[in-house]
Amino acid sequence: MSELRRTPIKQLLSEGRAHPSVTVQGWVRTRRDSKGGFSFIELNDGSCLKNLQIIADHTLASWQELQAKIHTGACLEISGELIESEGKKQSVEMRAGELKVFGEADPEHYPLQKKFHSLEYLREIAHLRPRTNTIGAVMRVRSRLAYAVHQFFVDRGFIYLHTPIITSSDCEGAGEMFQVTTLDLDKPPRVDGAVDFKEDFFGEKTGLTVSGQLEGEIYAMALSLVYTFGPTFRAENSHTSRHLSEFWMIEPEMAFYDLENDMDLAEEFIKYLLGEVLEHCHDDLEFFNQRVDKNLLTTLAHVKDTPFEHIDYTKAVELLRKSNQKFEYAVEWGGHLQSEHERYLAETVFKKPVIIYDYPEKIKPFYMKMNQDGKTVRAMDVLLPRLGEIIGGSQREDDYEVLKSRFDAKGIDPKEYWWYLDLRRFGSAPHSGFGLGFERMVQFATGVENIRDVIPFPRFPKHAKF
Ligand code: ATP
Ligand code: MN
Repeated sequence: MSELRRTPIKQLLSEGRAHPSVTVQGWVRTRRDSKGGFSFIELNDGSCLKNLQIIADHTLASWQELQAKIHTGACLEISGELIESEGKKQSVEMRAGELKVFGEADPEHYPLQKKFHSLEYLREIAHLRPRTNTIGAVMRVRSRLAYAVHQFFVDRGFIYLHTPIITSSDCEGAGEMFQVTTLDLDKPPRVDGAVDFKEDFFGEKTGLTVSGQLEGEIYAMALSLVYTFGPTFRAENSHTSRHLSEFWMIEPEMAFYDLENDMDLAEEFIKYLLGEVLEHCHDDLEFFNQRVDKNLLTTLAHVKDTPFEHIDYTKAVELLRKSNQKFEYAVEWGGHLQSEHERYLAETVFKKPVIIYDYPEKIKPFYMKMNQDGKTVRAMDVLLPRLGEIIGGSQREDDYEVLKSRFDAKGIDPKEYWWYLDLRRFGSAPHSGFGLGFERMVQFATGVENIRDVIPFPRFPKHAKF
């Protein structure tokens, strides 16, 4: 294999040792010319938040010519001597020996000049925003979290499962589906006036998955512990700071787990993820702590170290109704809890994460296990301060007859779910699972306000450009 010339800047800064000759490659963040006959170049290669400071002496060969090309945004390769830095800001800096310009960035046109840019503006230049400190830091934290997700489950004996992205089963109640079709939208084939999906690519109506849960259950009934981690789609017209049309979800599904086991795993999972980023993403989190939320590090440590509160839905409604808080939506037993209610409980009442369980069956899907009271099901939501819901989960109904009656009660044709019923007919087992929205986790870990800024290319209503 041919050797790479480049040493990542992260490695040079963390080793902090002088070296007679190294090569770095990256993009210029700033250039500052000093009167003493040299220039300071701040180079960033994305391996870490920090830049490498490079000192270019104006006596360097062809400096005159290079100078005109070295601007913010230009891509360079620089070889030289690494020396221990006298400044406090960095451990080492480089004395340039040889400079090569890969690509210039005309300062007249390059949009990312030094001044501050709003995250809204940066969304419009999604092809350049990765070169900012904020988006760079978000993506490093995101990557570490994704790695930690796999570590967590693999360490606990879970099997990583890929569930389909195109599906003909909608996980009832989870959300509106995007349709997948190759039919001609101008003149689709019809029978008796209705579109004939038998003529469509798959011979039936299909869409993009809103959840891998039902397929996860199939595999949990053979492999015991499985998890999915993949893209999920919801065609909902939500314009909130917590909803995307395309997001990534982690869905573990566990045979032989009851709701208590499920809630414990959810809590352990969140704490583990926070522990991993606190340990491995220190510089990036420090940056967010300074720039985005002064309490970020304290909040993350608090959530990691504090046992979550557990209250049932009935108690939650009671607390909300007793409170003197003015809510936009009134609270009533049997209704959905809105984000304002969820945040009030986690932020104001308990000041820590709260798990609400045992929700009214009427507002929950067919697959959740019915409680003895005949009114509530074994559902749970994990609510975080500042964010609201991050996890939704449940123990699944494992009794064939009860499940069948649930289909009837909800007006669902059990024939459509014959395979799901089969799992209760052959070797049924108590089992549970949950779904964690990956971007909400990245939001929480970084303190970044809007979910559109924690995914490389956000998709939301009227927005799917690059
Ligand atoms: P919400 O009430 O916040 O809209 P939900 O109850 O519809 O969420 P679930 O079907 O329970 O969501 O999905 C499981 C998890 O997936 C949620 O707890 C959340 O973290 C995440 N999630 C759901 N919808 C979205 C979305 N549109 N964008 C990003 N994450 C989402
Ligand atoms: Mn939910």
